[in-house]
Amino acid sequence: MNYSLYFHIPFCVHRCAYCDFNTYAGQEASIPAYVEALGREVEFVGQNFPAGNQVHTIFFGGGTPSLLSPAQFDSIFRSIHKHFPLTNDAEITIEANPGTVHLEQLQALYAIGINRLSFGVQSANGEELRMLERAHDFFDVLDAVHWARTAGFDNFNLDLIYGLPEQTLGTWQTTVERILGLHPDHISAYALTLEHGTPFGRWTARGLLPLPDPDLAAEMYEWASEAFDAAGYLQYEISNWALDHPPSIIAPQSSIVNHQSSIINRKS
Ligand code: SF4
Repeated sequence: MNYSLYFHIPFCVHRCAYCDFNTYAGQEASIPAYVEALGREVEFVGQNFPAGNQVHTIFFGGGTPSLLSPAQFDSIFRSIHKHFPLTNDAEITIEANPGTVHLEQLQALYAIGINRLSFGVQSANGEELRMLERAHDFFDVLDAVHWARTAGFDNFNLDLIYGLPEQTLGTWQTTVERILGLHPDHISAYALTLEHGTPFGRWTARGLLPLPDPDLAAEMYEWASEAFDAAGYLQYEISNWALDHPPSIIAPQSSIVNHQSSIINRKS
């Protein structure tokens, strides 16, 4: 049987206004200790890995995994290779914030064995990115994609969010067209959800930010779905499209660990 591993990296340079993920800003000093703990956990979990099986996907999500240095990834991979047999074509993905990568770093990550990137783009519109309090602009996305290809990555995902307050169908269409122009292998498009306890949740509750229009969000979804389809992307799940075929997906039933620590099933 093939298994999947998920590593959660709960660090971000800034907490985006809509985000309720388990992640922390301003805690970078804790990253070395966290990486060491991951190494110990890999060893602990690896001892119980059923003989004769292999790992075929590894996903580093967050948070912002690209905040870890190549040396820190190298240290985690040494533990993984020591304790888990990987398939020859194992897909190894890290999520990355376009504002936190550079060419030399991506070259080093590729050399370590990471072969897929997932960039959190969210929008190609500067005002929307500022409203979301993202730590990047669309020029960072263009640089990140260019550097990824230069470094050797031929498999990457771009994440988008639609249904934003004050977003128009026109700005969404521009985002979709710009994303398609980058020819990613995979696109994820998620409807914004207003989460309790986030600045977005508070601002909309107090009337400081208009609620997203659900009918308009549905129109955005349908428009994007048709545009992705016309561009040759196969929709294999409500929020996900892949160029030729669905990527290897982390299947909860085949993951070997399901608890609150670092190597867990991916929830979404
Ligand atoms: S970069 Fe992603 S995980 Fe980090 S705060 Fe923003 S949305 Fe949340």
